[in-house]
Amino acid sequence: MTKMRAFILAEILLVLTILGGVFLYMNRGDGAVDGLSGYQTLYVDGPAMLNLTETLSSDALEGRETGTEGNAAARGFILKRFETLGLRRIGGTYAHEFAIIPYEAGQVSLPPEGVNLLGWVAGKTPGKGPMIVVTAHYDHLGVRDGEIYNGADDNAGGVAALVGVADYFRRNPPTHDIVFAALDAEEKGMLGARALVKSGLIDLGRVALNINFDMISRSEAGELYAAGTTPWPQLKPLVAEVAAAAPVTLLTGHDSPELGPDDWTSQSDHVAFHEVGIPFLYFGVEDHPGYHQPSDDYADLTHDFFVRSADTLAMAVKAADGWIGLSERPAD
Ligand SMILES: [Zn+2]
Repeated sequence: MTKMRAFILAEILLVLTILGGVFLYMNRGDGAVDGLSGYQTLYVDGPAMLNLTETLSSDALEGRETGTEGNAAARGFILKRFETLGLRRIGGTYAHEFAIIPYEAGQVSLPPEGVNLLGWVAGKTPGKGPMIVVTAHYDHLGVRDGEIYNGADDNAGGVAALVGVADYFRRNPPTHDIVFAALDAEEKGMLGARALVKSGLIDLGRVALNINFDMISRSEAGELYAAGTTPWPQLKPLVAEVAAAAPVTLLTGHDSPELGPDDWTSQSDHVAFHEVGIPFLYFGVEDHPGYHQPSDDYADLTHDFFVRSADTLAMAVKAADGWIGLSERPAD
């Protein structure tokens, strides 16, 4: 890498940010997303979320592979949103840097470190009691054979939805603390999530639930899955409540070992929480033609579904905040 190249990239990104801001301003007003969706969002700021998704999945970010300039630039955009929202920091910073140890990942060509971004919204007893950790990875596959893998659905959309949901809870404070974690190195083997679980930065004893968003913005059928209720059946009433009111078709499944490759239990960041005995809900869509292809582009997202999906995710986190209250046992 050269400094000049980083400087030019920074300039391009600055222009993109300004253009994004203008786009955002022009789309403010009603909740409808001009030309992309007639759906009026109730929870998330649809235009802001689409704008962030388009930015994160633009060619300028070169597929956001862990350890690259594009990945760092993506992180910069997310960090800016965390700052704008005024999310609380852990230990005075949003950045959680972690070492990548190649033999642990089973690969040799890995960058030396990754960086998660952590911010949180306070509940009624900040720093105390059960809490929720919402996760979405921002890294993707980078450039392969000269082709950019933009990863619009995987997982620019998910991380933009995480920011949108954080914005909702900043405006509508929850009962319990909610940590929002934009994770790195998911595509390298869920390394950011595993590092977070091991870090000691969050008290695992307080984590009642992990809610993970990964590929939530592209479904021609309008179907979103909530996986996790088979291994964690106590979550069934919570998901049923969300499904009854959701503006998408919310299905359960993809969480039983007999499904083989269609069991998603160990296929995204929630597995790191599941492995240490923390219940999870993973939200995602069925694989589509753009899955892990250079064609996973912003233009090919199903935008109307995406904004509905993001509202559903906000509903799910809100319902989980209430569910924790119901599941809490009185102190001895
Ligand atoms: Zn993914």
